[in-house]
Amino acid sequence: MFQTTTLGYARMGKRRELKKALETFWGGTSSADDLLALRQDLEVKTWQAQLTAGIDRIAVGDQTLYDHVLDWTVRLGLIPRRFQGLSGLDRYFAMARGRDALPALEMTKWFDTNYHYLVPEIEDKMQPLGNFGEFLAMVQRSQAVLGDRAVPVVLSPVTLLALSRHNGDLMAWLDQLLPLYVDLLGQLKALGVKEVQLHEPILVTSQAADLKTAVQNTYHQLASVGLPIQLVTYFDDLGVNYGWVTQLPVAGISLDFTRGHNLDLLISQGFPADKILGAGVVDGRNIWQIHPDVILAMLKKLQAIAPNLRVQPSASLQFVPHDATLETQLSEPLRNVLSFAEQKLVEVVFLARMLNSEDTAAQQAEMQHQWQAFEQFNPPNPDVRQALASLTVEDFERSLSYSLRLDKQVKLPHLPTTTIGSFPQTKEVRQLRVKYKKGDISQAEYQRNIDTNIAECIKIQEEVGLDVLVHGEFERTDMVEYFGQQLEGFAFTVNGWVQSYGSRCVRPPIIYGDVSRPQPMTVREFQVAQALTQKPVKGMLTAPITILNWSFSRADISRRDQAFQIALALRQEVADLEAAGAQIIQVDEPALREGLPLKVQRWSDYLSWAVDAFRLATAIAQPQTQIHTHMCYCEFGDIIQDIERLDADVISIENSRSGNRTLQEVTEGGYSHQIGNGVYDIHSPVVPTEKQLVQQLKAGLANLPTQQIWVNPDCGLKTRRWEEVVPSLKHMVAATQKLREEIDATTR
Ligand code: GLN
Ligand code: ZN
Repeated sequence: MFQTTTLGYARMGKRRELKKALETFWGGTSSADDLLALRQDLEVKTWQAQLTAGIDRIAVGDQTLYDHVLDWTVRLGLIPRRFQGLSGLDRYFAMARGRDALPALEMTKWFDTNYHYLVPEIEDKMQPLGNFGEFLAMVQRSQAVLGDRAVPVVLSPVTLLALSRHNGDLMAWLDQLLPLYVDLLGQLKALGVKEVQLHEPILVTSQAADLKTAVQNTYHQLASVGLPIQLVTYFDDLGVNYGWVTQLPVAGISLDFTRGHNLDLLISQGFPADKILGAGVVDGRNIWQIHPDVILAMLKKLQAIAPNLRVQPSASLQFVPHDATLETQLSEPLRNVLSFAEQKLVEVVFLARMLNSEDTAAQQAEMQHQWQAFEQFNPPNPDVRQALASLTVEDFERSLSYSLRLDKQVKLPHLPTTTIGSFPQTKEVRQLRVKYKKGDISQAEYQRNIDTNIAECIKIQEEVGLDVLVHGEFERTDMVEYFGQQLEGFAFTVNGWVQSYGSRCVRPPIIYGDVSRPQPMTVREFQVAQALTQKPVKGMLTAPITILNWSFSRADISRRDQAFQIALALRQEVADLEAAGAQIIQVDEPALREGLPLKVQRWSDYLSWAVDAFRLATAIAQPQTQIHTHMCYCEFGDIIQDIERLDADVISIENSRSGNRTLQEVTEGGYSHQIGNGVYDIHSPVVPTEKQLVQQLKAGLANLPTQQIWVNPDCGLKTRRWEEVVPSLKHMVAATQKLREEIDATTR
């Protein structure tokens, strides 16, 4: 009999109960007991949902108050010195969110997902110490509900260390952690647990080969406990490491068959007869229902090689929302082919029943019928398909090269000053948008109000003395949602929340059909702003890869084609902005780097089409139109050539937090276009002084010729308050003025 397994479940509660509980606790209006009680209650609900669906082996211990990596950091006693005076929840949340003079742990993306984890900081001389009491108590509670079906999830020490910040030798740290893990597995065994999952996603990255000895050593030691281990990988294939990983002394290995080439590896290299294959065939990262015949065909292939298999999602279901049936406002044919966490459980069980030759004909016919209805509802857009098929090299190429078009573009003083686009999103602005959305105010009234904000914003920028202005983005809740809502082919959920980090959830748009632009999306606001000033106002767009990566994408056409479709829509917008008088158009691409595949050998393929998508969106601009882009990150060196190939005239980047490292990388890479090296950190409420900014600017000038440098904050200002923004920008302009005078004096 084929069994079913899960690797983790949605974490926030069906109605984001955990988010609300966390926020009231942080706000001081509920107690720690309330919070912990709610958390336990939610945990039980996730177990019951999986039990009711008929899952045989249910992951427990995946649920968390804030972040599962932080949970293991604390359980292993890896507490940085600055938090050692604190304890319990107090310390936990201080590590997660920072407090007073205690900066939080750094937060970064969990592999190639949009979930963020807290990076463990391992300090020299730290003494790891096992603190497994609450974990073991949770396991016992789960056994009371699930019996032998409960399978504790443990984050492997190798992945934990590989993701952490530490000086020195990973192996030395591993030697310290392994006895704690051996002890933990022993205690789980004593509780009567039947098997344990060790999550080891680092094995799918390019780092894995270097970790071979560490991984082998780890599993040999853990195997000595005698508790069956399921080694769990996800997000990509095992690649060149397939051979030795499948030989590790574990009871089973879970592989992702929705991404990468694990199926090919299995077919060409076989699978050990004595091991269980955890077949991750239901995609835990997208929101589409399975095509039963396609998956069944794959399962049959797997079964021929690894007869001892279990059906499971490809990853934890934390990356999808809870329940698609709640989205009653969506057209039925679309809603019926959506699959969120609850639906995916049903699919997993359905597939196992099918393999077990139970009668699933009716269910299968139903799914096929739903897909047919969806295809009728959502036929390809012939114009879009045609446009995509007839692209030529010229469509990706500006008509003049950078050096030739440079002189034709807007004339500005040395070290031109500007901002990244958004200005403070005050409560009033947010309420205004809500009122409009609810239908409480008319479109005319809404636009009048937006325009008042634009006018005020222009006035302030002129008073501050900036050279290139923006309209302020008051009409946008989110830089992706704003465009998705105006493009054909996008759908929006009401309850489709997924955790981004801690209590923060996002509702990614769903790309379900061919993308097209019925009408201009940003031209009105641009015109309103430009009419109010002699200074150039930047047109402001979000670039294709950011729109694609921050949405749930289609599974029936390639990501490249989806990016190109979005690019074609943006291309029309660029042309319209230009026709409306925009001399400068900024196309933000903050997600370009985070879209990099987990394996380095796949980078060049991705970067090739991702950069092409940006070029397709922007190359239509006349030579005299200056194209800007913005990216808010700092690790740059390894993709600098690709950044240059975007062929933007100006790029603005995060630089202030990286201590000018970015700028050095850019200089070393020989970047020839203009660059706005963010001169201060907008994530902090601190107003930078003129003196600090002069220093920051000088660092820039030491690295690059004056003609290449722009002056701007390192990201949009929407999360800041006007009281912080105005003085900061004034100091920035004053510092720039000082430098200009110095430059003039030396060149005279
Ligand atoms: N133009 C956007 C803004 O200023 C850019 C945001 C971003 O980089 N994430 O808000
Ligand atoms: Zn940014």
